[in-house]
Amino acid sequence: MKTYKIAAIPGDGIGTEVIDAGVEVLKALAARDGSFAMRFDHFDWGGDYYQKHGRMMPENGREQIKDHDAILFGSAGHPDIPDHITLWGLRLAICQPFDQYANVRPTRILPGITSPLRNVSGPELDWVIVRENSEGEYAGVGGRVHQGFPEEAATDVSLMTRAGVTRIMRFAFKLAQSRPRKLLTVVTKSNAQRHAMVMWDEIAVSVAQEFPDVTWDKMLVDAMTMRMTLKPQTLDTIVATNLHADILSDLAAALAGSLGIAPTANLNPERKFPSMFEPIHGSAFDIMGKGIANPVGTFWSAVMMLEHLGEPAAATRLMKAIERVTADPDLHTPDLGGAANTRKVTEAVIGAIRAENV
Ligand code: NAD
Ligand code: MN
Repeated sequence: MKTYKIAAIPGDGIGTEVIDAGVEVLKALAARDGSFAMRFDHFDWGGDYYQKHGRMMPENGREQIKDHDAILFGSAGHPDIPDHITLWGLRLAICQPFDQYANVRPTRILPGITSPLRNVSGPELDWVIVRENSEGEYAGVGGRVHQGFPEEAATDVSLMTRAGVTRIMRFAFKLAQSRPRKLLTVVTKSNAQRHAMVMWDEIAVSVAQEFPDVTWDKMLVDAMTMRMTLKPQTLDTIVATNLHADILSDLAAALAGSLGIAPTANLNPERKFPSMFEPIHGSAFDIMGKGIANPVGTFWSAVMMLEHLGEPAAATRLMKAIERVTADPDLHTPDLGGAANTRKVTEAVIGAIRAENV
């Protein structure tokens, strides 16, 4: 029997609460399936680790997880540590060296969940956002000089390469081609950012030639926020830079009902390194420790992990179990307007996994 080796990195805040729930659900799923097993190795990296050791993960941290089949990640972000230290010290310290350049973020309005958009329901909002995950504004290029003086200067340079843009465009066109509508929107800002974003547009045009059956269009990022809100039906697959997609996907999650539901896969499509799966939300300081975090974003991320591992039947079973649970408003956490807690939702999903007809 195949045993998948999963590195669980809960991180900080509600990350620990939702990853505990996710591991429990995955164990129940493997038991129900019977054809594969999962072994979880837990890593206590994050803000508490930082306070003890002065770094977010050990120096050989990546070495410890590079041979795992996948990584299940919670959140990096601690109330007492600056956000750029936690983000760069853990999440980006894994994504970038493991070349997880394709960040995939599906958004749908799940059964039982109400979109804040008037008159918009299930079929009208079904998107996948592809976020370039290795360069752009997150390349880490920049610096600060004369700190604290009136002449202080600081830069964050958005770095784009032909190789980096070409591979994410190919990935996005291929993904659009695999979906029924074969429809791709390329998000840009080439009116104001006249170097890298112009190259981005040109590469989109040339990669499009390889995918004649994909219909595609181009949209400035500011206008894109309006289109997502007013004409969600006109969108299907979306590709955007690291920063643009980061922002647009929080909007997408909110339009689909809650940030607590939205999943992500950080993929290394060539499988040279493990890929990483995580809810898109952060540590949620305002609700941490209360036991009310919505675990659905983590469960849906686990679905993406199972698809990546090559367990489509288990992935489908888990997605059905999630949808069965969201369909019942008594099982909604407070972010969805309900009164359920993490425990109750987790138990309900495990119950649905075990139920014969799912
Ligand atoms: P956040 O996602 O933590 O929270 C935003 C809002 O959404 C909060 O009101 C929170 O309560 C709510 N929310 C988020 N997830 C929820 C869930 N599962 N259930 C119910 N409600 C949920 O974003 P933030 O407040 O901007 O960031 C807090 C910290 O998390 C910061 O340190 C930030 O850097 C970090 N962060 C980390 C990641 C990551 O590791 N991938 C992503 C985003 C933010
Ligand atoms: Mn984000």
